[in-house]
Amino acid sequence: MISVIGAGPSGCYSAYLLSKAGERVSVFEEHKEIGNPVQCTGIVTSSINSIVKPPKSCITNRVAKARIFSRKNFVDIKLRNENIILDRERFDSYLAEKAVDAGAKIYTDHKFIGNEGKNVITSKKTSKSEIIIGADGPLSRVAKVNNMLKKREYWFGFQARARLDNDNIVEFYPNIGTFGWVVPENRETVRIGILGKENAKTVFENFLKKKIPKNKIIGYQTGIVPVYNPGQQTRKNHIYLVGDAAGQVKATTGGGIIQSLTAAEALADSIINKKDYEKEWRKRLGKDLWLHLKMRKMMDKFSESDWQYLIELFSKKKNNMILQKHDRDYPMNFMLKLLISEPRLVYFAKYLF
Ligand SMILES: Cc1cc2nc3c(=O)[nH]c(=O)nc-3n(C[C@H](O)[C@H](O)[C@H](O)COP(=O)(O)OP(=O)(O)OC[C@H]3O[C@@H](n4cnc5c(N)ncnc54)[C@H](O)[C@@H]3O)c2cc1C
Repeated sequence: MISVIGAGPSGCYSAYLLSKAGERVSVFEEHKEIGNPVQCTGIVTSSINSIVKPPKSCITNRVAKARIFSRKNFVDIKLRNENIILDRERFDSYLAEKAVDAGAKIYTDHKFIGNEGKNVITSKKTSKSEIIIGADGPLSRVAKVNNMLKKREYWFGFQARARLDNDNIVEFYPNIGTFGWVVPENRETVRIGILGKENAKTVFENFLKKKIPKNKIIGYQTGIVPVYNPGQQTRKNHIYLVGDAAGQVKATTGGGIIQSLTAAEALADSIINKKDYEKEWRKRLGKDLWLHLKMRKMMDKFSESDWQYLIELFSKKKNNMILQKHDRDYPMNFMLKLLISEPRLVYFAKYLF
């Protein structure tokens, strides 16, 4: 039997793929309901469609324009392929239903406590497993009790849902905290938030104050994002880590839904076809996650005038066209094109060292 710990996107999708291939799979989720509480904005590029096409019932909105801000200027990027705004609760439930339809058993209200050899111990039962998959999010207990969590840094996410009439444009604020956003859920409601370090709450409160009157706020959400560490061990004997538990998250924006699903595919393929998981997921995600991390290292050193300069360069038609056409999940596909189109971008390379 295979035990999957955590019924988020990476756990449910791994369970679905493995069950479909004939494996006996049990998923243990600590919460009583799948997808609840929501700790995510749910924006993904259209690349998700080539992994799992979310049904209409899981989509709250589609957006065709992104606006990136510095403190003084901004640039609009028409997205050739619309971004999708997911209802995370429904999306996680949809993946869970797929897993169950394929034969997996899901046990909610079962918190993973630890494992002794092949015994998986949860708050409600102990079961024998040939394989244990830690899909239990950024603070992965599976990683912790199996001594696989070495050096991991985290960002703290704060988000509010608020009533705000908007033009259906996604706003990105890469210079607010680690990353800030306003994502329209529809024409009257937005998800507004930031990721940041120790002072994230204060940064969020100041950002919110500027953007939204207090009486327009519907509710708050918080969460944690792991900073990608290329050296993270993701397999130890019969224990595997996937998704946020493995830190498979973009270091530029903190987004990890597409990466979690991609890693789940690599994991299922590795288990079913006896491949090397460490190699498989890195083949599919490693280069792009590495580039996101390099960009993060540079972004962290930008001054306000650097941001303004970058936005100016992105506003040039030929550069803007490249950004319109390509998917931000996969910067390896267009970074070189962008550098050839705009050699002045080399100016920022000084921050690599
Ligand atoms: C504020 C915020 C906004 C974000 N916005 C976006 C976005 O717009 N787009 C994007 O792509 N990504 C976004 N992310 C990141 C995205 O949410 C994660 O990358 C994604 O959820 C990872 O999926 P996962 O299945 O690996 O982990 P999770 O979704 O965290 O799922 C882990 C599951 O394991 C369960 N669990 C944990 N511990 C145990 C235990 N001991 N026993 C049993 N079950 C357990 C949890 O309850 C949970 O259901 C955001 C993150 C935050 C914090």
